[in-house]
Amino acid sequence: MVKERPAICVFCGSSHGTDPAYALAARRFGALLAARGFSLVFGGGYVGLMGEVAHAARLGGARVTGILPEFLRHLEPPSAEEEKVVLVPDMQERKRLMLSLADAFAVLPGGLGTLDEFFEVITSAQLLVLAKPIVLLDINGFFEPLQTLLDGIVAQGFARKDIATLYRRAPTPEEAIDHIAANLDRMPRP
Ligand code: AMP
Repeated sequence: MVKERPAICVFCGSSHGTDPAYALAARRFGALLAARGFSLVFGGGYVGLMGEVAHAARLGGARVTGILPEFLRHLEPPSAEEEKVVLVPDMQERKRLMLSLADAFAVLPGGLGTLDEFFEVITSAQLLVLAKPIVLLDINGFFEPLQTLLDGIVAQGFARKDIATLYRRAPTPEEAIDHIAANLDRMPRP
């Protein structure tokens, strides 16, 4: 099957966070994703930053696919809009499907679920079972503490120095999308 448009999978908070800058950036990212001809894969719920990205992408004309575990339907309800929702049995299947449908990953500020999803893709990239661009959208330097943690892990000899090549921190939605667009076909194949 030939895919019409490359898909960006977005991982981000099911909350809005304390600073309105997060929602603003999420909306901008969704709008840009659509304007640059990408489709969106996301967690399926119209809550928090996830909802902001999906709504903006949809308004911009992007094809939006939500991957939602059945049991989360009420906590993270899908939109009444015409997006495609794929119901899956559990979180593991959600991640498996998101990883296989995406051509690239964008991680926006979020909580534990967002970090779980980031580590899923970064560890898959480290093991060479995934070779797709991964971008951290670093609004307000949100990912600085994560960078410090990762640097410490490398410094203490628990990961290779070149894990830094597996992802890119981008301070703006524009730079995040540019990085993805420029690296879609450049990733080494596993
Ligand atoms: P959070 O960053 O905690 O607000 O969560 C963001 C998204 O990650 C939400 O849609 C959660 O349902 C999702 N999430 C949380 N844990 C997992 C997991 N283990 N696998 C897949 N998605 C998850």
